[in-house]
Amino acid sequence: MNKKIRTTSQQLTQLFLTLFIIILFLVNLAFAGISTAFIYNNAHEQAEEVIDTISDNISDHDEHKNKNEWKLFLNAYLARQSNDAISLKTPKGKTVYSEDGEELFEKVKNHRNYNNVVFMENSVYYLRTANEDGYRISVILNVDDLFTLITHLLLAIIILNLIAIICSIPLIKRFSRKWSQPLEKIDQDIEAIEHQTTAKKKVFVPKQPAEIHHLAQSFNKLLEYQDKAIQREQQFVTDASHELKTPLAAIRGHINLIKRRGKEHPEIVAKSLQYIDSESSRMEILVNELLELGRAKKQHQSIDPIDPIDLVPIVQKESEILEQEYDTCSVYISSPTKVFYPIEVKDFRLIIHNLLDNAAKYSQNNAKIKIELQKDNGYLTLRVKDQGVGIKEENYGKIFDRFYREDQAHSSQIKGTGIGLAIVKDIVTKYHGKISVSANTPKGVIFEIKLPL
Ligand code: ADP
Repeated sequence: MNKKIRTTSQQLTQLFLTLFIIILFLVNLAFAGISTAFIYNNAHEQAEEVIDTISDNISDHDEHKNKNEWKLFLNAYLARQSNDAISLKTPKGKTVYSEDGEELFEKVKNHRNYNNVVFMENSVYYLRTANEDGYRISVILNVDDLFTLITHLLLAIIILNLIAIICSIPLIKRFSRKWSQPLEKIDQDIEAIEHQTTAKKKVFVPKQPAEIHHLAQSFNKLLEYQDKAIQREQQFVTDASHELKTPLAAIRGHINLIKRRGKEHPEIVAKSLQYIDSESSRMEILVNELLELGRAKKQHQSIDPIDPIDLVPIVQKESEILEQEYDTCSVYISSPTKVFYPIEVKDFRLIIHNLLDNAAKYSQNNAKIKIELQKDNGYLTLRVKDQGVGIKEENYGKIFDRFYREDQAHSSQIKGTGIGLAIVKDIVTKYHGKISVSANTPKGVIFEIKLPL
């Protein structure tokens, strides 16, 4: 396996881990946001409360207070030991401060203010100013405690998150492996089948997940189909060799006979030559049919768009040829005057020729054959009916197999290769059609071909 290609398990681990980290990061971000808003609101409310209480308690004669009296007055609104401060500007423009307030206000003035929040000497302050009844009241609140508490909480959460991420890695890995295990098992099975280290021809089908379950099932179906196709091909090669061997053996036998006895018994030469002639022509037919079969199979996959052709003249022509070949046979055609269908002339001629030839071959003298050609219900239908020897119902499925010949007794008298119907079926399949056989009454068979319109 290519080392650069990562396994599903590795990809899943990376994906889940990334997702997990993103989620944690977002949760932390939300926590930090909410905490900041909480500190801000809390400080704001506290400052508002101080300002409101001061403004409620100021009376008109307070204006005459001296600085010290004001300091005492303002100190009353501050929590003891806190680092807060209040400043107050009277309507007459005098500014007074709470204890140590002036110093703090001076410092705050020299620092940047972010939305009323001031960061100064490792401390955080909230600054609020309001005008009430001509007085300008400013409050500075130290929010260090809250800020420290929330920073610690955030730190604790980040550490917990890191621990969670580290602990989750083996868990995520295990989960991902569990998910990718069926795929690994299937891959191993495929490799075993490929290298033939196992006799089984199926891959493992996991119950879950559904996609892999279906994938494995489809793959097994494909394997089964391939296996059958290979077996069919092997059978075909065996059958074809056998079919060719028989006439070849006969030909060689007669040649040897002529060589050994030809001089002493010249009368056998003519008879042997006749055998050689008939066997070699049998071979010729067989080889031609094998070539046709190969051609029909090769074009199986796809057909290019074809122009429609009129099928009636082809049926008439093939019927005339048959009637000339088999003197006593007569063919009746029932069809509209023209029937157009997009099919290659060569293909349709092969279909009709093979069906008519069989109908005549497997009928006794005076064969009466009926051909029906019509278009109905979305199909082009071709029926060839004869009144011949018929086919046993149990063999209906077999006669389309290559080299199958029903009832060796009568087949041995009637010449044939067992390939004709296989060629017809391949051509019909190529056009996405269907071929079937049924009994004709009182005797004979009906071959029916349906090609989609
Ligand atoms: P063959 O060269 O033997 O005719 P086919 O593939 O054309 O090969 O037909 C396969 C077998 O199907 C034949 O051997 C024959 O037993 C049977 N068969 C085909 N057509 C007919 C028919 N019209 N009547 C009776 N039997 C038929």
